[in-house]
Amino acid sequence: MNIPEALLVGVFGLVIGSFLNVVIYRLPRMLEGETQETLSLPASHCPVCKTPLKVWQNIPVVSYLLLQGRCGFCQATIDWQYPCVEFTNMCLWLLCLWHWGMHPTALAWAIGLSFLLTLSVIDWQTTYLPDALTQPLLWIGLLASSWGLTEVSLQHAVWGAAAGYGSLWLVATVFQRITGKEGMGAGDFKLLGALGAWLGPFALIPLVLTSSVGGALVGIWLQSSHRLERGGYLPFGPFLASAGAVQAFVGGGDVFFYINWLL
Ligand SMILES: [Zn+2]
Repeated sequence: MNIPEALLVGVFGLVIGSFLNVVIYRLPRMLEGETQETLSLPASHCPVCKTPLKVWQNIPVVSYLLLQGRCGFCQATIDWQYPCVEFTNMCLWLLCLWHWGMHPTALAWAIGLSFLLTLSVIDWQTTYLPDALTQPLLWIGLLASSWGLTEVSLQHAVWGAAAGYGSLWLVATVFQRITGKEGMGAGDFKLLGALGAWLGPFALIPLVLTSSVGGALVGIWLQSSHRLERGGYLPFGPFLASAGAVQAFVGGGDVFFYINWLL
């Protein structure tokens, strides 16, 4: 990784991150039929006063800092989530560059991780994991595998997808039969299926284990600080997605890696 490459990829990461914000903000409203907006139209505007942004007000992260977190027209507070998503996406893209170099594998994973970031934020806010994102993520994972861009063979990618979806579906169905409650949404099955396509079947057990433990720890922490009511529901998607992102970099993708690491 040299400086020109890092600058190029960093800027790309920021610009894509800016688009992810549009998806995060508009896609759930589009799917609910609450808005006439599409992902491309209208142009970026202040959600409060609706004034279209000037070019200099639409620069990822920089504009937020220049405007000191307020709309330049109506002074409404701009959600800190916008620069946060842009910055996180830039870091993810730079991590891919650092890990894989200027290689198509880095681009494939950068795209995959951008999907995971978008899904995490949408799930956290709405508790939905839209098919419009989980399905392309699955297919891109299978295609990337078929081109040899991921560490798993196409056969393992297909098995990973089926086993990921099927295992959570089975757990949720049994849980629902026994308790009469819905523990997980179908979006979680689809997300784990997609992750299975990217990481292979052997990654699934460590994925589910680490994301369950992570979810439980965050849940306990939020409850103890009274930010989550008792019996409150924490979306599972962000934890699955983060565990998947970690596995993308630590590689190995098998349970033995974790056993070695724990010992
Ligand atoms: Zn405004």
